Parts: sequence; C-alpha cells; structure tokens
Amino acid sequence: MLPQELLTSFKNEALAEEAFKGLRLRKGVTCKKCGGRHHYWLASKKQFQCKQCRFRTTLQSGTVLQGSKLPVSYFFIGLQMLMEKGKRISIEEFQKETGHKYYDPLWDFVHKLKDYVRKNEPEVLEKDFTEVVDTYFVTHRQVS
Ligand SMILES: [Zn+2]
Repeated sequence: MLPQELLTSFKNEALAEEAFKGLRLRKGVTCKKCGGRHHYWLASKKQFQCKQCRFRTTLQSGTVLQGSKLPVSYFFIGLQMLMEKGKRISIEEFQKETGHKYYDPLWDFVHKLKDYVRKNEPEVLEKDFTEVVDTYFVTHRQVS
C-alpha cells in the first residue's frame, strides 16, 4: 500500500483499536497489581483483565496514549508519519492529517510518540509496527 493509502486506512478507529490491541499482545501485557502476564480481553470495556487478580488494564494504559483522550488511530497515523519523514513531523502537519481541532493535546502526543520511537530499538519498532499493519490493515483491506 502507498503511504497515503495506509494513512487513510489507519483512520478506521475500530480497526486501529484492534491493531493496537494486537501490538500490545505481541509485547505482552503485564498486570500492574500482581505482575501477571495472562489476561482476558473484555471487548465491551476495551480492557484487559488479569486472569490471576482480575485487575483491569485499559487499552491505553502504559502506552503513549495513556492520559489522553485521543483516538487510537492517531498512534498509527503518527508513527507512519514519523517513520516516513525520518522523525521530523510538525504538529501542524499532524493536525492537518488527523483533522483534530485542538493543538495542545497533539503537541503532547507527538512529543511522547517521538520519545517512544527514540526509546524503542528502531528495527524492533519497525518490525512490530510493519507486521501489525500488515496483519490488521493490509490484510483486512484485501478481504473486504
Ligand atoms: Zn493481576
């Protein structure tokens, strides 16, 4: 898929949530309360529930999306833009791509995302990201 087509497909929020969940499961979700690694997925609440102690972890918890009310799709849009443009994206560009009304939450988010990219081995990040994108967005598009 062309980068622009990918960006368009990322805007499907339901698919973005599925893919983000997939990305988290690849890395493994760890319970903050008991350290348990096994979870159920509560689809209606969009939360992981620890099989040991029943503690719940939201989809966003412990990720760059924690504490923000931004759509999960922004994670994929932002990451795609960062990887394509060699980590140099402006908030204005991101705002234009997402159509988001407010500048401040985007500023916070893009900075967190850049930090996330810096802290994660580029090849690991690229591999995980690419595979998750292939699994959820590219494949989905072919079957639908
Ligand atoms: Zn637990």
